[in-house]
This record gives sequence, structure tokens and C-alpha cells, in this order.
Amino acid sequence: MTEQLAIQGGKPIRETLLPYGRQSVSLNDISEVIEVLKSDWLTTGVKIPEFEQAVCKEVQADHAVAVSSGTAALHAAMYALQIKPGDEVIVPAMTFAATANCVVYQGGKPIFCDVDKETLLIDPDKAEKLITENTQAIIAVDYAGQPCDYQALETITSANYISLVSDACHSLGAKYYSRPVGSLADLNIFSFHPVKGITTGEGGMITTDSELFANRMRMFRNHGITSTPQQRTKQGTWFYEMVDLGYNYRLTDIQCALGISQLKRLPEWIEYRQEIAKKYDAAFKNIREIAPLKVKENISHAFHLYIVKFDTDPDQKFIFDALRGEGIGVNVHYIPVHMHPYYRNNFKTGEGQCPVAESAYKKIISLPVYPSMGERDVSDVIAAVIKVLDVIR
Ligand SMILES: *Cc1c(COP(=O)(O)O)cnc(C)c1O
Repeated sequence: MTEQLAIQGGKPIRETLLPYGRQSVSLNDISEVIEVLKSDWLTTGVKIPEFEQAVCKEVQADHAVAVSSGTAALHAAMYALQIKPGDEVIVPAMTFAATANCVVYQGGKPIFCDVDKETLLIDPDKAEKLITENTQAIIAVDYAGQPCDYQALETITSANYISLVSDACHSLGAKYYSRPVGSLADLNIFSFHPVKGITTGEGGMITTDSELFANRMRMFRNHGITSTPQQRTKQGTWFYEMVDLGYNYRLTDIQCALGISQLKRLPEWIEYRQEIAKKYDAAFKNIREIAPLKVKENISHAFHLYIVKFDTDPDQKFIFDALRGEGIGVNVHYIPVHMHPYYRNNFKTGEGQCPVAESAYKKIISLPVYPSMGERDVSDVIAAVIKVLDVIR
């Protein structure tokens, strides 16, 4: 007998909504933040290089530049590459809008590339075909936490003398052939929004092996000014020069203290996310309507998102509402960026341009996955998915 769905008057699996993602903040995190609040420097202090060094070590990169958000990090990366009007940057259609917006901030044109059907990661062959004499870079997005095919992308970008940028906002802690994400592209972007791998409230970082890029971005995050207040204090001078137009994209010491403390738990969090994914995989293995996205060989997946894909076009809105009704905070990642009105209106994008992403969008749902989920939470998600599928079958 099938159970009645909560949205049809039945009893929900959970009384309170389980979110799809959530931060984990410990008492130790809080006391690290309090220490900074008692100190002399709330911003532009010593916690910033300390956090940058900790991330460099974690991802095996030479330089890291902390900024106020993942979006600011993407913008700074486009600035470092000197993207300007007339330039094109290839971005995947299946991502958050910020991946494309950063190109537009610099006056460039995002060129939307379709994704691989099984992983929903940027398709290197399709990206190569989009390269023109105006192309300056490819931004690869490690969708859901799975590293892209960096070997293929690196071959294409170096053969065409263009840059490779990794939007690793989903994949801090992931690995590609045992190399950590953050050291795989010319510029690598992280976000510390509360649903991401680690959090600073809002925050972001760029890692790179290029000192030139790092210096440009340090200036860019501070109004285009060449010295910091700390240097001026040390040198006992008021003098500074603004040499280019920059922004206030600084991350505070308060936030960096939280980030340093959070980063210590990243490896165990990744392991736990992988464990949850394994449980979902096992539970859904024999359900013919849904399948997880393919996980490639030789990678370690960060599982920022756990996505199930339906085999046919399901009534996505009904399934979404039904799962929400059961108390499961599902989500859909993402509406393909080229389908948004802004891009349709200003860049003449639209339906049919990236058919794989457009079709996948109608078939995907993201299930909750985050470190503070308990065993009971995981089994509630599984029970709710099975309950809803039983009814629509
Ligand atoms: C979260 C995210 C961003 C933006 O990061 P913010 O810190 O929210 O500005 C960019 N790209 C992707 C793929 C993201 O998931």
C-alpha cells in the first residue's frame, strides 16, 4: 500500500525542514572569532595572511588571495587575466550565474558551453570548438564537487595560448589524480558561503602559482592601491598610490579566524560527505527511475551537492513540492545560466544553445548533504524519496 503524501494530507516524514546544506560552527570556531574581536585589527590584520597560507598548504598552491566572496574572487581572477571589452571567456551553462557574471563585470562576453551528459561537467571537446581569436580563457566549474577533466582542458588551453580558470566553489578538498583542487588551473576560485565546504559567513579566495596574478589581485581587492595600512603603519608614512581602478573586496580578520578554524575539519567533513553519498547510492541502486550523476575514476569527490537524475522528464515541480512537504529541503542546481532573462536580453542567448544542460535541468534534484547531518536525517531523505516515487509511479 502506498502512503499518502504530506502535500495530499498525509503525515510528513519530518516535522521540521531539513535544509539541503548547512554550516557547522563549533565552540572552538566561536572562540577564535572572539579572540580577533578583542584584538587591535578587525580587518587588514595578521589573520588574513594566516588564512591564505593555510589554504595554500591545503591545496598545494604558491599564492592565495582572500576576498569578500566567491563572486569577488571570480571578478579578481578576470581582472588578473586583464579581460576587457571584446574578449570572450568560455563558461559552462550548468553553473551558478556568478561564473558568467564575472566576465561581464570586466566588459567581456561569456560564451556558454554545453556539459557532459553523465557528469554535467564542462565538455572539453565542445569547449575547444567554441575557441575563437577573441577567446582568453576557459572557466571550468567542478559541478557538485567533482573535479573537471583538467588534463583535457589543460591540453586545450595551452595549445591555444589561453588561460584555464577553475571555479572550485563546490570542490574545496576534492582531488584529481591525487592532486588537490586549487592547484590544477592558472587561477582557482573558492567560496566560503555557509553552504560551501567551509565557511567564513561570506568570503572567497583565489589560489595561483603566479606571483604576478597574486599581486594584481591584492591590489584589486584594495581599491587598486599599492600599499596596505599595515605597511604604512610600519613605514610611518601616509603615502599610497592608487594605480588602477579596484574595489573594496577585502575579507575581515574576524572572518579569516573562522576560516582558519573551519579548515582544520575539512578532511573529516569531506570523508563524511562521501559516506552520505555512499548511503544514498546504495539506497537508490535498485530504483529504476533515478540515478546519481556519474563519478569518474581517479578523483576524490567533495560532494558539495548530491544530485539525482530522473530517467525521463518527471513532474519536477510536483516532486520538489512533495519532498519539501515531507520536510526534505531539496533544491535544483541549476537553471542553465544562458536561459536567464539577463543573458537572453543582453547576449541573445536562449533555448537550444546547450541542449544537454537544458534537458538535464528538467531532470535533476539536489538532496541534502552536509557534515552535521545525522544518520536519522539521511534515512529520512531516503524514506521521503522512496515514498514520493511510490506515489508517482
Ligand atoms: C557559490 C558559488 C559562487 C559564488 O560564491 P559566493 O561566495 O556566493 O559569491 C560561484 N560559483 C559557484 C559555482 C558557486 O557555487
